[in-house]
Amino acid sequence: MVKRDYYEILGVAKNASQDDIKRAYRKLAMKFHPDKNPGDKEAEGKFKECAEAYEVLSNPEKRQRYDQFGHDGLRGTGMHDYSHMNVNDIFNMSNFGDIFEGFFGGQRSSRRSAANAPTRGYDLETTMAMTLEEIATGAQKSIEFTRQDICESCTGKGTAKGKAPVNCRTCGGTGQVQKAGLGGFFQMVSTCPHCRGAGKVIKDPCKKCRGTGTVPKKRTVNIKVPAGVHEGQGIRVANEGEPGKNGGPRGDLYCYVRVKAHEFLNRDGNNLVVTVPISFTQASLGAKIEVPSLTGTKQLTIPPGTQYGNTFRIRSEGLPDIRSGRKGDELIQITIETPRNLTGNQKKLLKEFAETENNKVQPESRGFFDKLKKHFGNNE
Ligand SMILES: [Zn+2]
Ligand SMILES: [Zn+2]
Repeated sequence: MVKRDYYEILGVAKNASQDDIKRAYRKLAMKFHPDKNPGDKEAEGKFKECAEAYEVLSNPEKRQRYDQFGHDGLRGTGMHDYSHMNVNDIFNMSNFGDIFEGFFGGQRSSRRSAANAPTRGYDLETTMAMTLEEIATGAQKSIEFTRQDICESCTGKGTAKGKAPVNCRTCGGTGQVQKAGLGGFFQMVSTCPHCRGAGKVIKDPCKKCRGTGTVPKKRTVNIKVPAGVHEGQGIRVANEGEPGKNGGPRGDLYCYVRVKAHEFLNRDGNNLVVTVPISFTQASLGAKIEVPSLTGTKQLTIPPGTQYGNTFRIRSEGLPDIRSGRKGDELIQITIETPRNLTGNQKKLLKEFAETENNKVQPESRGFFDKLKKHFGNNE
């Protein structure tokens, strides 16, 4: 690829002053800046081209070589072809990022010194156990949890009383360290490993938080939980997470619902299901029985001839829908117990009963045995 002339790229004369070059670059870089042209490859290419041109023309030594020998004159100076680099590397490599300060404000400076930028605190998660009764009506829940919170002793600074953080010696307080690149012309800039970019280090740490600025603290929040919530649903409580850094906002607290098991009732959507065992005489003759519900016991009439697995419904004894508030039903599933350990008298009575039984009074079993006969009829 033929390289364009650096003066041409920046639109300045060969005898342009450093200020002219800086001004021209600033204008173009603003125009083609990746933050302003997200996803625009052409703009990105132009931006890199300008950055490369500025890198050379803003440096008197490089500019002189370029003036004398053109692009070839820069070989061996550690000069990179910016078109093959990614934009972040370009920002991290040199001092021309400074040129943007005041223009891109927090955004640009956050890319350059993330350690001092305001960052939002972590979100926290907790669970709250809810009974079906609470879900039916909605509830005010008191949630106690532990979070890392600002240390009161040092107000989050991490330093011992009366002491301030001192400039990092490794980077001299800039948060960045420079290494000479190839040929000594080029400076590689990277985050200071000692202070991790903060520029300051704590020499006399706060005893309470050991310099971290945070301590674990118990916290109680009251949450209004709407009626009808489901297992696993979360309620967000804004600004109850961990504190932000450098003045950033707190994270949020998410409380997830865990439904406590009920002794009798199982949830099925907004319906409640209960299994009730009855005796075979109750099933045969019919009965009035008591069944559990969320609001106490309820009377249920079992009609004569009730079969195992028959389901009865009590309307609107279920849970409210979380949106509409419309209540589900309670479903009563019947199981029938066959008597065990019969007394002699009971056996006698049942035998008598059995003798009175014929196929006519048991339509379901008659149908079944008729089908069976048909199916295996050849074998008889
Ligand atoms: Zn502290
Ligand atoms: Zn440092």
